[in-house]
Amino acid sequence: MKERIIEIIHKYHADKTRLMDIMLDIQDECQYIPEECLDILSKELVLSIADIEQTISFYHFFSQKPRGKYQVYINQSAVAYMMGQSDIIEAFEDELGITLGSVTEDGAIGIFGTADIGMNDQEPAILINKRVFTQMTPYRVRQLIDDMKAGKDVKDMAVKAPGSGKNSDPLIDAMVHSNIFRIGPLLANDYKPFDYLKDNLSKIKAESIVEELKKSNLRGRGGAGFPTGLKWDFCRKSSGHDKYVICNADEGEPGTFKDRVILTEMPELVFEGMAIAGYTIDAHYGILYLRYEYKYLETYLNDLLNRMREEHLLGENIAGISGFNFDIRIQFGAGAYVCGEESALIESMLGKRGEPRDKPPFPVEQGYLDQPTAVNNVETFAAVVKILTKGADWFKKLGTADSAGTKVLSISGDCQFPGIYEVEWGITIQDMLDMVGAKKTQAVQVGGPSGTLIGPEDFQRSICYTDLSTGGSMIIFNRDRNLLKDVVRNFMEFFIDESCGSCSTCRIMPAVMLDKLDKILHGKGVKQDIRDLEEWGTVLKASRCGLGQTAGNPIVMSIKNFRHLYNQLLNRDELKYNGFNLEEAIQESCQVVGREPVIDHGHLKNGRERPECKANGTHKPECPDLSGHKDFEHRATNL
Ligand code: SF4
Repeated sequence: MKERIIEIIHKYHADKTRLMDIMLDIQDECQYIPEECLDILSKELVLSIADIEQTISFYHFFSQKPRGKYQVYINQSAVAYMMGQSDIIEAFEDELGITLGSVTEDGAIGIFGTADIGMNDQEPAILINKRVFTQMTPYRVRQLIDDMKAGKDVKDMAVKAPGSGKNSDPLIDAMVHSNIFRIGPLLANDYKPFDYLKDNLSKIKAESIVEELKKSNLRGRGGAGFPTGLKWDFCRKSSGHDKYVICNADEGEPGTFKDRVILTEMPELVFEGMAIAGYTIDAHYGILYLRYEYKYLETYLNDLLNRMREEHLLGENIAGISGFNFDIRIQFGAGAYVCGEESALIESMLGKRGEPRDKPPFPVEQGYLDQPTAVNNVETFAAVVKILTKGADWFKKLGTADSAGTKVLSISGDCQFPGIYEVEWGITIQDMLDMVGAKKTQAVQVGGPSGTLIGPEDFQRSICYTDLSTGGSMIIFNRDRNLLKDVVRNFMEFFIDESCGSCSTCRIMPAVMLDKLDKILHGKGVKQDIRDLEEWGTVLKASRCGLGQTAGNPIVMSIKNFRHLYNQLLNRDELKYNGFNLEEAIQESCQVVGREPVIDHGHLKNGRERPECKANGTHKPECPDLSGHKDFEHRATNL
């Protein structure tokens, strides 16, 4: 094995900044990262074992323990559960005789939970060895298990019905559906791949591209909404011996899947936008940071990059422009939501834990390899090509005065047609609900768990940067859903799992808030608990990055807009009940320390009579000698 590991390391020129790629390859080879690899990695890359281990432990899809020849990852997003994911988990557990998070005794099949895999429009969905299986049923689980037990190759297990759109391309061959229900100017089929790059780029100066983008009012489509022209201008003017263009395709916000569809259906538009960015800021390297969950697109996208090289659309003197040298590679993540934050993404690309950096300096000054770097979303690069082709004035006429253009929305949950919709900024939530066939809607989660949860009184509000801003995720809940138990709770667990742990607020508060929410859900809450939750949501704003700053949003926004749901659960007799039950707390502590909890003064929880008090032969509450008791339960009960 040693030779093979060294071979992998040298495929990446023993470059420690490529640790992610190296470990992904090792994991492909061995199904996990064996202990003996660490020494080899450490020696060859001149990294400490601790550095390597901290990177491994950061990402969901890396493991130092075997996870099975077939590694099944079951999506655990709120929408997955709404669509029946519990039945899928149960079917796997029953058929395999193991629980989620474990591997069969023969080491063949492991089943694990994972956060949103970008398939909210075709849930329940799972991944098996990087291959996506959508619209699962317990019957299909049994079929897949039979196939795995028979040792079939995962690609031969794919259900016969191919996916729609380019998902049926032999290089993708996935049963994924693109589900595009509304096409606007961005997704319109009026685009001739690379025409602008080939015919027009040589005629325009970099400064003019920046001016055209500024004039268009294009803002980043990933969620933050920073003006693209300004970002490219900053980057162009920053000094460095190299500059970089990064396309952020890590769309990890639960409910978002539009970048998956754009990269499947129109990858040329994205790569052309990246090349134009390279020309504008004078960068020679572009990197598409693609989330691990979309690894099934790797061959397809690399094939396109190779064709671009053959056609001199990547490489040296592109499109005949002397000195315009630019190439693109794909960098995969390994499962970490926080890597959607641009500086965390850059850290990840350097082979480190994806922890956000302190800012300033911003990536446009000091980004990848400490060089000026422009990081933009997939949809932003696509929009750049259309703007330059049709003009800033054309673009500005779309949308609203402060939100120019269109937005590609990923819409999922309780509606007739979950999928992709390109709309002009400014449409109302009610327009959107009508468009997707949503009925009896109780709430809409705008912008994913980090966004806002709104009810019917807000359905006339507009989707735009100045009102309801979104990176694209829209999740609809009808009146049958238990918002607090099934949605808010799921979102809080998501943030707890995804915190990088660097800030104490983000590491601790979401877990404490979830405890408090559970207290309320169990009917033990009092009014003060709601006030505490609101206050703690404010404390979270002190966190370093957007993840922590918004991690309390599911609770805070649901209190703001659905306070009645909390009030309904509060204990009414607040004067007599302060939310603390001594007896239950004692029993809980007994469980924590491994003692048998007492349910009354004479019996243990299992119904046995409690042993006699060793101190004086009595176990009655009036036992006079509390201080001499070693019997914790007895003393506690007497208290
Ligand atoms: Fe990490 Fe959370 Fe702090 Fe962001 S806010 S840096 S995710 S601990």
